[in-house]
Amino acid sequence: MPVRAGQATRLWIRDPLAILAEDAGGGLVVEGTRIAERVPAGAAPSAPVDETFEAGRHVVIPGLVNTHHHFFQTLTRAHPRAINKPLFPWLRALYGVWDRITPEAFRLASRLAYTELLLSGCTTAGDHHYLFPKGLEDAVDVEVEEARAIGIRAVVTRGSMSLSDRDGGLPPACLTQDDDAILADSERVLNLFHDPRPGAMVQVGLAPCSPFNVTKRLMRESARLAETHDCRLHTHLGETLDEDAYCLALFGQRPVDYLEEVGWLGPRTWLAHGIHFNDDEVRRLGAAGVGICHCPTSNMTLASGRCRTCDLERAGSPVGLGVDGSASNDSSNLMEGVRHALMINRLTYGAEAVTHLDALRWASEGSARCLGRGDIGRIADGFEADLALFTLDELRFSGAHDPLAALVLCGAHRADRVMVAGTWRVVDGHPVGLDAMRLREEHGRLALSLFGGA
Ligand code: ZN
Repeated sequence: MPVRAGQATRLWIRDPLAILAEDAGGGLVVEGTRIAERVPAGAAPSAPVDETFEAGRHVVIPGLVNTHHHFFQTLTRAHPRAINKPLFPWLRALYGVWDRITPEAFRLASRLAYTELLLSGCTTAGDHHYLFPKGLEDAVDVEVEEARAIGIRAVVTRGSMSLSDRDGGLPPACLTQDDDAILADSERVLNLFHDPRPGAMVQVGLAPCSPFNVTKRLMRESARLAETHDCRLHTHLGETLDEDAYCLALFGQRPVDYLEEVGWLGPRTWLAHGIHFNDDEVRRLGAAGVGICHCPTSNMTLASGRCRTCDLERAGSPVGLGVDGSASNDSSNLMEGVRHALMINRLTYGAEAVTHLDALRWASEGSARCLGRGDIGRIADGFEADLALFTLDELRFSGAHDPLAALVLCGAHRADRVMVAGTWRVVDGHPVGLDAMRLREEHGRLALSLFGGA
């Protein structure tokens, strides 16, 4: 049927093998960038459609939402200087090589991370970029350009480090910037790229890196700027016991008290990791509506600890998922993160307390809430048409009975189709318009030439 003049195409994703949505056994209709309606099992759409995609081989879930990453770290995966270390020694080892990053390498790293995320079923990619050495001053601009070229939704946070080892911080001075330069550039990128409206393809947040590498002034001024521009605030907090000891030694307070003092204990804030909180801190974070990005793969790799996800959710905090940087993961696969979240949280709370549906909810609706988004993360009428479709054709799924449980328990890691804002961006397991093998070759070659050796 031809598209009617002046109207968006209506696409019926018909009769999926399984779908993570209520009353949608017959699939859903996508119109323009949004989900127009869900179709109950055995029923037909309420109005004519222009196209039909037969989804009988596909398990359909909401596009996953990643809420923490460091794209540049794809260049230093499994680096011999850093493997087999906990966070602080790991960071000190890598600070010593990250100053070699070039603009070309950073662009390829961003492209690679977006593509990896997209192929794993992720439709909204958050990144926390905090490295701005000479030549890389426009890193946020590069991430926005690459997201637009690939067609993925992006939440790019303008990170920062301003407290060097000369002033009691962790990073070397060559990787830090002056507070005023950071604030001026934060305002620049907010004015250029931040779209606070529903349906936004690009949003910008502010993300001073962590208590051990920024000044309190930068934290306070960033909170003020976020109010003015209606954007989110993001930082690392509560990742390790070393951080607790550092905060007590330098500031005479625990990390959550620090957060409160600098004006960040509110619903605009979401935190990466959020592991080492006591009962009173969990209660305060929940009451304030602070979001928590749980990073299970990274937390297990660095042996940082176990996030109190269920306690935080019960206290009122949105809980989402993040892959974290590709030097502590060392992959950018969010579906793999869903499986890891299921496993580590069962170890904490028991096999009956955390289900595959909980883990999928964290990676979709929970992550969307961390980002303050009410338009993504669910398959529901009026939501953005961000979808991930997996087949169960690989050997690992053979013999599986519950398709949705199989995605998580059998280890799905590559989507067959991914739609962002109503447009297919992955078809037959390949990114549309991008040569993944060429990207692998160029990125890998540059990473080894820049960061190889000691
Ligand atoms: Zn991180």
